[in-house]
Amino acid sequence: MPLLRDGTLPCVAAEQVTCRQAARYTCLLLASVQWTVCHCDLRTAAEGFLDEGCMERICVYCGSKRGNEPVYAEATRELGLLLGEQGLGLVYGGASVGLMGVLADAVLEAGGEVIGVIPRFLQDKEVAHHGVTQLHVVDGMHARKALMADLADAFIALPGGLGTLEELFEMLTWGQLDMHTKPCGALNVDDYYTPLARFLDRMVDAGFVRAEHRRLLTLDDSPEMLLRRLEDLYRRSL
Ligand code: AMP
Repeated sequence: MPLLRDGTLPCVAAEQVTCRQAARYTCLLLASVQWTVCHCDLRTAAEGFLDEGCMERICVYCGSKRGNEPVYAEATRELGLLLGEQGLGLVYGGASVGLMGVLADAVLEAGGEVIGVIPRFLQDKEVAHHGVTQLHVVDGMHARKALMADLADAFIALPGGLGTLEELFEMLTWGQLDMHTKPCGALNVDDYYTPLARFLDRMVDAGFVRAEHRRLLTLDDSPEMLLRRLEDLYRRSL
């Protein structure tokens, strides 16, 4: 699991290191030095921390188009680089076009793991990305969404169209039905999701959505903050 684009361990200020990064650095470091009993204990502890307490992969839903403003692709790239740098794997729709392609390329550029899941019938239409770490070609949309949901610890929607909303809302409704406890967020790039947030509030006011279910969607305009909030929710759900 490379941590930097040149494959070396990063040199960062201690206060910028997340627990997940610290555990990953420890595993990597101890894998590269001579074993001692103490190292074994430390490595086991770090691996245990990674196994139990941290998000490992994030499923990101986003547009198969890039949208009309450059800010959408810029924010997508920022999130992708961050995922790679933080050692968080990406699960996504497997395409090389639109924001999906921008995202996958950014995670790969930052040395991260990218798992694409694409239905056979969309392979050509959405131009499957063949540079990803793993590409699953599945039988249809339902299989795609189920596998993406299984592989990830949390879900993020970036700006996108009908497909993006459908995927996000499926995870929210599954959460509402207690079919999973994985956190769901949306990156509010350039206020893209502000009207949606207002509509969700309206649904609560009108008595169609319970306030606790409204809170299933975490909205933030900062990729760092969104990841931090999702990680916090993830830990609390364990
Ligand atoms: P869009 O946001 O419409 O550009 O679509 C983003 C992704 O969602 C693409 O990979 C589409 O294949 C996928 N998608 C489109 N329609 C649906 C749907 N009805 N259910 C699930 N995914 C969809």
